[in-house]
Amino acid sequence: MLNNSPKTLKTCIIVDRDGVINFDSPDYIKTPDEWIPIPGSLEAIVKFNQAGIPVAMATNQAGPAQGKFSHENSEKIFNKMLENLKNLGGHFDYIAQCKHHPEDHCECRKPKPGLLIEISKKLNINLSNCIFIGDSLKDIQAAQSAGVKPILVLTGNGLKTQEKLKKINLSIDIYLNLQQFSEHYFNTPKI
Ligand SMILES: [Mg+2]
Ligand SMILES: [Zn+2]
Repeated sequence: MLNNSPKTLKTCIIVDRDGVINFDSPDYIKTPDEWIPIPGSLEAIVKFNQAGIPVAMATNQAGPAQGKFSHENSEKIFNKMLENLKNLGGHFDYIAQCKHHPEDHCECRKPKPGLLIEISKKLNINLSNCIFIGDSLKDIQAAQSAGVKPILVLTGNGLKTQEKLKKINLSIDIYLNLQQFSEHYFNTPKI
């Protein structure tokens, strides 16, 4: 048996928000009322929490910068999510948000890897041990450029993204939703 320290083996689950944790809308999620969790998604986060696995979020939130809704509403939406999660006994270890306008050409807006790099620094983890679960091509691209294992879920934009992946001949692991991914994760023996 190799004498690996826990730190070198430390894994991390990173999730996108819209379309993975909550139902997405082409008109943006603009108010707390529009934020509705996908059944089982928050419970999945709780399972990772209980297993001692760090859970982070990497989300593009350009709505306020684009004038779609206020920064205040954006904060209220995050608070609703965190309240719902807390009520189930869960938490995020870190939330990385890109709030820039797409035309700002920042280094963090997915498909760029900046948010994932930020998470690795904040949580002191090696990205090569991490998994990023998203519903859009830009999530998968961000994961690949950061050296994180990408997972596609078929909630949100997932079905459209699955078609795009077929076109570019990219084969990655796909799950129906975050709950199914977590069930698979915990039922599969780890090396
Ligand atoms: Mg999404
Ligand atoms: Zn940014």
